[in-house]
Amino acid sequence: MKITAVRAHVLEAPIADRFAFSQTWVDRRVGLVVEIETDAGITGWGDGYGPPWALATVIERYYAPRLIGRSPLAGDALWEELYNGLRDHGQRGVPVQALSAIDIALWDLRGKVLGVPVHVLMGGPIRSTVRAYATGLYRRSDDRAENHRLLADEARGYIDAGFTAMKTKVGFGFDDDIALVEMLRRSIGDGIELFVDANHGCDRVQATRLARAMEPFDIGWFEEPVEPEDVEGYAELRTRTSIPIAGGECSFTRHDFRRILEMRAMDVIQPDTASCGGLTEAKRIADMAWAHGTRYNPHVWGTGIGLAAAMQLLAVLPTTVPAFGAHQPLLEYDSTPHPFRQDLLVEPVLVEDGIAHVPDGPGLGVEIRRDVLDRWRVN
Ligand code: CA
Repeated sequence: MKITAVRAHVLEAPIADRFAFSQTWVDRRVGLVVEIETDAGITGWGDGYGPPWALATVIERYYAPRLIGRSPLAGDALWEELYNGLRDHGQRGVPVQALSAIDIALWDLRGKVLGVPVHVLMGGPIRSTVRAYATGLYRRSDDRAENHRLLADEARGYIDAGFTAMKTKVGFGFDDDIALVEMLRRSIGDGIELFVDANHGCDRVQATRLARAMEPFDIGWFEEPVEPEDVEGYAELRTRTSIPIAGGECSFTRHDFRRILEMRAMDVIQPDTASCGGLTEAKRIADMAWAHGTRYNPHVWGTGIGLAAAMQLLAVLPTTVPAFGAHQPLLEYDSTPHPFRQDLLVEPVLVEDGIAHVPDGPGLGVEIRRDVLDRWRVN
């Protein structure tokens, strides 16, 4: 069997209700979907998390020529060849994100060729359901009272839908952040887990002050407090607050995570499967995290294809300790407006009562709706 075509689809859709995190307002959703065809008539699909036009260029100009005519079954060999091909210029960022999309599509292909889900090829499943937390509660209005009213309603909506954990955004300034966290904890009560995410919008002084002030509100983790380059800053912050420190969605491959893990910089690492190097690299990072006794909860922010890939990984993430009360990994379930996230799939990834179900069809276990792909495609 040989690869005959590699296509990168750039998707973009405006959203009616914009929302903000610490860096900017979001008024459109974008996506990069890769499609790999074979002479056996089987197609694999992947998702890349990154600037889609840049990813499409790397995929079509640099990776596709190396893949055409090759067997899709040799996953590790192709991964190494593509990585080494741009290694001198792309150990992080766009080249690795583009490689991630290719790698996910190759896993999908292999699963479909062999008639089994990716998690079976990876030696699982260890679990077939995963507790999901709702990623939402972004800023929706610059008027504090209005914003609090909207977010209190949104949080109640997640509880009504069965979620037992959710995440909000900080990094808007100390007073705003503390007022929001206090309001949300009061609104949702004590039984619900609450995470906060600054999207590296604080410096170390701000992050330390905010972390200490949030301690009374039972925060499950403080995500990306400081910039991803400042691994020492993460390690330092861990010693200054009782709140667990999370991060890693802007870090790449086993090389970045080796440093993070060896420095004990984070309590929870969050590699994005569609960005850190694909399922192949995510599994390697997960095995390293296990050896370092560090939690792994994948970052998820893509199309339904990226969500399905994350579910395949979550099915095989190790349970780090053998105990009835062992911590289990969580699914980050993006609950913000997105016109094609799950619409792209013939059967959406099932998330019901706050529990996500691992797709168990061949490959990633999802099929793509070409009409939806064509509708939002801009390249
Ligand atoms: Ca985040």
